[in-house]
Amino acid sequence: MMFTEASLLDVWETAHGLSAVRRALVLAVAGGAEPAAAGDLAVGQRDEFLLALRERCFGTAFPCLVNCPSCGEELELELASRDLRPSRVDSPAMIAVDGYEVEFRPVTSRDLLEVHSRRALLERCVVAARSGGQDVDRSELPDAVLAALPDALAACDPQADVRIDLDCAVCGHRWASPFDIAVYLWTELEACARRLLYDVHALALAYGWSEAEVLAVSPGRRRRYLELAGTTA
Ligand SMILES: [Zn+2]
Repeated sequence: MMFTEASLLDVWETAHGLSAVRRALVLAVAGGAEPAAAGDLAVGQRDEFLLALRERCFGTAFPCLVNCPSCGEELELELASRDLRPSRVDSPAMIAVDGYEVEFRPVTSRDLLEVHSRRALLERCVVAARSGGQDVDRSELPDAVLAALPDALAACDPQADVRIDLDCAVCGHRWASPFDIAVYLWTELEACARRLLYDVHALALAYGWSEAEVLAVSPGRRRRYLELAGTTA
C-alpha cells in the first residue's frame, strides 16, 4: 500500500515532541505493528516495522554519511535494506555463568519506558534463574552473572543492534558502525514533513489552495507551480 503524504504528515505530527522510544512506537504502528502489542515487541521486532515503513515511504536505498573514526574523513555510502536485516541466528535465550543458569527474553520498548536503571532492565529480562538446582530470585543474581546478559540479549535480538562493517577508502580503517533505523527514519520524516508544510504554505499563499488541495497535486506538478509562483525553496 502506498503511504500518502497526508498520512506521513499525520505520523510526523503524532510523533513530534515524543521521547525516542515513544516515537519509535508511533513509527512501528504506522509501519503495521498492532497498536496494543507494539510496546511488548522485542526492540528488534519493533524495528522491523520501522524498516517496512521506511521502505514504503522512501524506498530500499539508504544513503548515509559516516565519519571515519580513525582519520575523520566523511564517507558517503548507500546501504540497501538487506544490509540492515541481520540474519536470524537461533540463539538460545539461556546463559550459564558462575554456576547460575539464567533464562531471559529480549528487551522491549515497554522495558525501556518503565525501567530507569541498567540493573533493573537486566533483571526484568530474566525469566527464570537457577543455581545448584534451586530457583534463584532475579534480584539476588550476582553482578557478574547479570554482566553476561547484554551480549546474550544482543545475540538473541540482532535486529535491535544493527552494525554495518565499513572500511575507510582514505586510511583503510575498518570498523562496525551502528545503524539506528529509528533515528534514520525520523530524520528523513522530519525533513520530508518540513518540505511538505513549506509547499502547503507557499501554494496556499500563491493560489489560495487548502492543505488537502495542495497534497492532492503530484510532487512534480507542485514543483512546477512553486516555480511559477516564484517561491521555490
Ligand atoms: Zn579513515
